[in-house]
Amino acid sequence: MPRPEAESRYRICPLCEACCGLEVQVSEGRVVAIRGDERDVFSHGYICPKGVALKDLHEDPDRLRTPLIKRDGRFVPASWDEAFAEIDRRLAPILAAHGRDAVAVTLGNPSAHKMALLLYFPRLLKALGTKNFFSASTLDQMPKQLSSGLMFGHWLSVALPDIERCDYLLMLGANPMASNGSLWTVPDFRGKLRAMQSRGGRLVVVDPRRSETAAVADAHHFIRPGSDAYLLAGIANALFDEGLVRLGRLGDHVSGLDELREALQPFAPEAVATRCGIEPATIRALARELAAAPRAAVYGRIGTCTQSFGTLTSWLVDVLNALTGHLDEPGCAMFPKAAAFAANTIGRPGSGRGITTGRHTSRVSGAPEVFGEFPMGCLAEEIETPGAGQVKALITIASNPVLSAPNGPRLSAALDALDFMVSLDIYLNETSRHADVILPGVSALEDEHYDVAFPQLSHRNHARFNEAVLPADPASQPEWLTLMRLAGIALGRGPAFDALAWDDELAAQEVRRGFGDHADAVLRAIGPRRGPQRLLDLALRSGPYGDAFGLKPEGLTLDRLIATPGGIDLGPLQPRIPELLRTPSGKVELAPPMLLADLLRARRELDEPHAQLVVVGRRQVRSNNSWMHNLPTLAKGPFRCTALVHPDDARERGLTEGDMATLESNGRRIQVQVELSDEMMAGVISLPHGWGHDLPGAQLQVAAQRPGANLNAVLDEGARDPLSGNAVLSGVPVRLSARVA
Ligand code: SF4
Repeated sequence: MPRPEAESRYRICPLCEACCGLEVQVSEGRVVAIRGDERDVFSHGYICPKGVALKDLHEDPDRLRTPLIKRDGRFVPASWDEAFAEIDRRLAPILAAHGRDAVAVTLGNPSAHKMALLLYFPRLLKALGTKNFFSASTLDQMPKQLSSGLMFGHWLSVALPDIERCDYLLMLGANPMASNGSLWTVPDFRGKLRAMQSRGGRLVVVDPRRSETAAVADAHHFIRPGSDAYLLAGIANALFDEGLVRLGRLGDHVSGLDELREALQPFAPEAVATRCGIEPATIRALARELAAAPRAAVYGRIGTCTQSFGTLTSWLVDVLNALTGHLDEPGCAMFPKAAAFAANTIGRPGSGRGITTGRHTSRVSGAPEVFGEFPMGCLAEEIETPGAGQVKALITIASNPVLSAPNGPRLSAALDALDFMVSLDIYLNETSRHADVILPGVSALEDEHYDVAFPQLSHRNHARFNEAVLPADPASQPEWLTLMRLAGIALGRGPAFDALAWDDELAAQEVRRGFGDHADAVLRAIGPRRGPQRLLDLALRSGPYGDAFGLKPEGLTLDRLIATPGGIDLGPLQPRIPELLRTPSGKVELAPPMLLADLLRARRELDEPHAQLVVVGRRQVRSNNSWMHNLPTLAKGPFRCTALVHPDDARERGLTEGDMATLESNGRRIQVQVELSDEMMAGVISLPHGWGHDLPGAQLQVAAQRPGANLNAVLDEGARDPLSGNAVLSGVPVRLSARVA
């Protein structure tokens, strides 16, 4: 019999922040090919090697399909009703005996790629009423969110390069040739860079490694890890010193320029050069180039966030953009206007309440709450330390902090001390192995999707929706219903209440709150949609491009998006200041007091000696989250979890290519495979994160064949940027020796 022709279906790739549109060819219910979707208005057919691995992920025999309950130390399959009955039996008494804060929640990066998880985890958090919420944001991005919030008034008002019109890009701690952007959704970065360079534009990269991006840049400068704030302060100082500050249109919309100039006085290029490892003349040249470029942007990413001065550095990136007239102008650092869910399109334009931090502090080490969460590095101590408010139970949502958070071994031991743990996950991994109940997530190919977060971070405005590529596995349960059922248990509704009806009730309440007298008309316009689709339609239709529930017939609706595979292009980024601002002053705050105070800390530490050897992380094209190491398409090829060591550093320690070596920090050690590389700045080694798949009880068979070393196991969970609580994962002093323990 001839095989029926494959049918094309479409999916926004959920594997990284670039969010490429994929064309998935399906025949007889199976995926036969995946390629870039040429019609996609945002990614135009681009795909990276990870995209095709979506088939591996869907078909992975290790991917969980049914709930699991741990009985006598072993996981056994269970029905959904049995799993929720078990959760109710064990969670409800903990809440009753120890209070709301006794249950903690962790949220991992993959949740950002699941519409249902992102829209419904707040329902669970609200129902639990716990202050103990932890997420991957304090492992990689909270400094940028905090600095953006302080300057512009909202946590997700992040300025990002308008690369298609930009002619000069200064980039720190980022490797978009491997990542295609982070806090900057920019599929096919390579193509966009080539276009920029072919119109005469320049990319300048500052990084302690000659990364894949540095290799194609027009200039690359090594920098001592952790000193980016000093370099940026030095450039800003030079701008003032040499009379190069030009605010342009922003002049009427900023506050704090004089305070900023004053605070930057001690950071002359000549003063910061030793700390950065960059010559003063180079720092001044960067200032002049930036000031002279008509359309330019400074962009800093993960390396600038995962350091002790993460927030300070993130702020200084935008300070430079502002001082050189490169903020909120075409071709410069701009703000997206997302079609739905963006707080900076809601409410009165031009001013607002701004943000606050520290509304409460963590119980053990007193870390301030930031954006509603505590640092992930605090989780273990909150579980271990007895007393009122001790964490006794944990719900993890698509998160694997045993591998992704610093000092995983301590956290792993702490998880064993919990009274109860639930994991909502697609795998039995290094973290979920500690759970008492695992609730499986839904395969991305069986799920509809709209990117809730990433259009707020995209280099071009757009809106896309995809329906499920494959029919749902009959054994699965939509993730939003899973979260609703957990929320119901947290509120004492028991394991078997009508979650659908409750969701209807909550949605109607929210519409009444949001639309007042018009609520009935809005509910009628939305019609019979339920769950995430209802929330999405509401957000689209009331959003900046929406149809206002029929008042603007040409406007966006979910129906219209569904009828437009490939999505709708909403045009290039447009200037948004002052409309975007939500600061109480209605100005861009150039000198928030919290950051000026931290500049004093930087001043005090300016002359501190640097460590002999430090470690930094490394982004790789074929990896993003730890579970990608279990996908055969991505796992094949050369072993990638190697420690890149400069030849001089290796020679000094008697190490040669391929040797196993001991890497030590904070009294803990791991064994790493050495790869000699003159990509590295001398005195800096690089090891990727998210490896270490040799822990007993996990079920990741492919990953376990080449487990790699877990860098996070030797990092210090107490080392944090004091403002944002973000973990310090970069520039950490280490020892490397030929002795293998
Ligand atoms: S770049 Fe990211 S979004 Fe695009 S195909 Fe690769 S993994 Fe998917």
